Amino acid sequence: MKNRFQAKTVEFIAVGSELLTPYFLETNSLFISEKLQELGWQLSYKTVVSDQLEELKQVLRIAWKRSWLILVSGGLGPTDDDRTRQAVAEVLRVRLVFNRKILDNIRQRFESRGLKMTPSNRRQAYVIEGAEVLENPNGTAPGLWLQKRNRVMVLLPGPPSELKPMVENLVLPRLRKFGEVRVLRSVIRITGAGESMVEDLIKPVYRHLPSGLRLITLASPADVQIRLEMPVRSVRPEVEEKAFHRVKTRIVSLLGQLVYSAEGQPLEQVVGEQLRASGWTLACAESCSGGLLANRITSIPGSSDYFLEGVVTYSNRSKTLELGVPEELIADKGAVSEEVARAMAEGMRKKSGADFALSTTGIAGPGGGSQAKPVGLVYVALAFPGGSIVSRNLFRGSREQVKFQATQKALDMLRLKLLEMKKEACS
Ligand code: ATP
Ligand code: MG
Repeated sequence: MKNRFQAKTVEFIAVGSELLTPYFLETNSLFISEKLQELGWQLSYKTVVSDQLEELKQVLRIAWKRSWLILVSGGLGPTDDDRTRQAVAEVLRVRLVFNRKILDNIRQRFESRGLKMTPSNRRQAYVIEGAEVLENPNGTAPGLWLQKRNRVMVLLPGPPSELKPMVENLVLPRLRKFGEVRVLRSVIRITGAGESMVEDLIKPVYRHLPSGLRLITLASPADVQIRLEMPVRSVRPEVEEKAFHRVKTRIVSLLGQLVYSAEGQPLEQVVGEQLRASGWTLACAESCSGGLLANRITSIPGSSDYFLEGVVTYSNRSKTLELGVPEELIADKGAVSEEVARAMAEGMRKKSGADFALSTTGIAGPGGGSQAKPVGLVYVALAFPGGSIVSRNLFRGSREQVKFQATQKALDMLRLKLLEMKKEACS
């Protein structure tokens, strides 16, 4: 269904002075934009504004001029700094009217918990004239749905625990009536290549992109995502679907083994599925990644089917005691070395009885580097049935980023090894 609203602007306004301080993170917009995506809609603006009446009115005025749908959260509470209703009424030149039913509901809410309603709660019973009340079973402030001159303004409570169910249950069903657009979506995930290399490799697809298809590349250390989005608008959706899948398949084939998931899954899940399918088991011994690898592996439900154990052997002594890495080897080559990484993985594999063992050892920084062994130098090893391999890496970024990249490399080495073994078994 084509309609006049589709191309028009949608925006979100978060009201609350606390959201402008370093202590509170504005998250309602993330939820709202995620839900709008389900309808195939996108936010054009989001604004965070203080509780000051004039500032709030200013933002509402601008929004009312440029957007057909305005979602506002916060400032519906009973306290003096909750001024959203008043600001909206003044900007749209409508009256606030007392609604007895809302007051009765609030009173009941208090009484059911053995409390007495405070006089300030009376404020919450004033609604914008002509607005529809959206009940709030999770708090005292009801939401409001106001439709005026082809525009819609929705006032929502600020606390996410109240806003989310209200949006899901009351707002989305109403919005859906304005015309839902189905959107084809895919996320292709890549590791082992940077953003520019990925761009270079997929260049050929840019020449024949179907109209309406958006291709967004998002890069973070050791991980690149290609997001494909295409609204289905034509009368022959199967043609658009085919075109979409052709692009996706082409990208996956151009990138080859760099793609670890064409379905948006995290690497630890992909590796977990490979292990489960093959019946192999895994263990890990970590130094510089400090348990992050075991944490990622075990964040996948059901990982106990294939993950046997993980240890953090941070000191030299612990590498020797737990994994049997010879003291002389550490003294001779240093804890951050190819030889020690290999000895850690092999020692772990032996000790745990797992089919595969991963290890990490490196300098996560920010201090502790030297010319020969700079910050970011990480050795990652994989011991497998019949041998072991070690990779030497120079990661960039913060301590956290170096740790993440070490675990990404480890999981990817295992993924590639499992692929190789599967191919060998098949041939
Ligand atoms: P209340 O009745 O709780 O006062 P309200 O609608 O007036 O409801 P606010 O006072 O604006 O809501 O917000 C209450 C709390 O909800 C804030 O202190 C904050 O913790 C959280 N909150 C509000 N807005 C947001 C937002 N946009 N993102 C995340 N949290 C928020
Ligand atoms: Mg409040």
